[in-house]
Amino acid sequence: MNPRLVDLILKHRKVAYAITDRNLKVCEIGGESQLLTLSTSFSPQATLHQPPAEANGLGCSLFDLAPEMIGSEADIEAMLRGDMPVLTLASVNRETGQGETYYVNLVSWPYYDEQGAIVGIAHLVEDMTLSGHLEQRLTQQRNEVQLLRDQTATQNLALRAANAELRQMDELKSKFVSVAAHELRNPLASILGYVELMEEDLEALNEEHAHCIRTIKKSARRVLGITNDLLDVTRIESGSLELMLKPANLVEIVEDVANELQPQLDEKKLQLFLDATPDIPFALCDRPRTMQILTNLLSNALKYTPETGEIMIRLDAESEEGFIVISVTDTGIGISPEDQAKLFKSFFRGSNTHLTRASGAGLGLSITKSLVELQGGRIWLNSELNQGSTFYVTIPTYDGGEMEEQRAEDRGQETGDRGESSSSAF
Ligand code: ADP
Repeated sequence: MNPRLVDLILKHRKVAYAITDRNLKVCEIGGESQLLTLSTSFSPQATLHQPPAEANGLGCSLFDLAPEMIGSEADIEAMLRGDMPVLTLASVNRETGQGETYYVNLVSWPYYDEQGAIVGIAHLVEDMTLSGHLEQRLTQQRNEVQLLRDQTATQNLALRAANAELRQMDELKSKFVSVAAHELRNPLASILGYVELMEEDLEALNEEHAHCIRTIKKSARRVLGITNDLLDVTRIESGSLELMLKPANLVEIVEDVANELQPQLDEKKLQLFLDATPDIPFALCDRPRTMQILTNLLSNALKYTPETGEIMIRLDAESEEGFIVISVTDTGIGISPEDQAKLFKSFFRGSNTHLTRASGAGLGLSITKSLVELQGGRIWLNSELNQGSTFYVTIPTYDGGEMEEQRAEDRGQETGDRGESSSSAF
């Protein structure tokens, strides 16, 4: 090959070479080493270490040029005997006169004369600084990633342990609430039983005692309501609340709920309206739980609407395909936008509830939301402070053929009762 071309390639590739004789004395030196000067970060002296300046490297010992090869004497001897084809020292790091680190690969082969006898060793010194630095940075980054991974693994372990502890505490809390609520229910039921027995004979009591009996009944009912809510919360949290979805007539359910709450509505002189088209389809829902949903919404409307207000319940089977939308609108105290964001959280009570002095544990809406969602529906609201609120829930429609007969029968009854479309005061 053209020697000038070889030189060009060696310089371009930053490769220096040296040939040592059998006594390891340098007899030829070339490549990049002939061009670079001491002022650059890369120099022949740097690449081939520090050859004696007076001889420009020629005649000096191999170990002066490449002290890294000290310790490889046995390999060098094997190479000179022809027992070793190549010796490689990879990524040897060196320092320039300016204190910078650079990396070289040192590769040595036996050097033959034209008759094929080994007359020395050819050494190639290749500048690997760029890839060395990259490799070093890569190794450093790999180490950092590994460190982060180790830290994440440790944190994960700690988190898992904390989670397990929290879950255990949560289970314990649910168990405690459930046991306490169960234990409270029996004595409450017997209190209510006796109170109702005494109520039957109220004439036998004077007005003060009759008032006491009514107060005891009201309070016992309230505690029973809270106890039942607590039990529901624990069942919902543990996923053990089961629903029996069956076809049901929502108009009938709304009427039942309204009838139950009629005494309280009357007490507050609140007017209740129902607006439902006669062909409201059957819903697929759990009847007692749907009653609970509507009771919660209606009793909230009742609690948070001042006297002589109005409440409207609408059933709409058209605005959302596959669902019946029930809305409960009141002309009550309304809910601020900040409170609306937290409304469905357990134990949350609005900042303006004091306006009505209505009592409550803040569980009704969170239970209602879970029940609605367990049935496949959703809940939302529109409300403005001091103007009133509308709560919407969706209940899936039932579209099974076997209910057609019952529906027709029901429709007949409804038309008879309320005409084509009803908007009636209860
Ligand atoms: P509770 O009524 O026992 O406080 P809920 O979970 O049923 O609990 O309701 C949570 C809060 O939502 C109530 O404390 C009240 O501030 C607000 N809220 C619910 N319904 C209405 C309504 N119709 N009008 C105004 N505020 C309401």
